[in-house]
Amino acid sequence: MLIFSILLWVLFCGMVSLYAWYKGLSFFELFLLSFFFSPLIGLVVAVIMKQNIPIYEKRQIKLGLARRCPHCAEVIKRRESVCPFCDKEVGTPHKGKKAASHRQSVVSR
Ligand SMILES: [Zn+2]
Repeated sequence: MLIFSILLWVLFCGMVSLYAWYKGLSFFELFLLSFFFSPLIGLVVAVIMKQNIPIYEKRQIKLGLARRCPHCAEVIKRRESVCPFCDKEVGTPHKGKKAASHRQSVVSR
């Protein structure tokens, strides 16, 4: 039963940390906070903390959910065909070889 409780505790800490990571915050810091205090406190802190936009955008690009507009360099959604910032055509997202090689270069960094 104790093992089960610890596993559940760590699972909750992991979920809070993932949420924090998605928001552009530190996975490790939030995990430690959640682990030693409470996942609930960790969650409250993660919700209150301001989103780290540059890191959030970087992670969105890394996850393939967003990309940079080739004209104005703003981060836009991957599926967008017209940039909402500069109203220019950005084309369909790259698929296949180019995307794969880009993913590879991200991984190798
Ligand atoms: Zn643009």
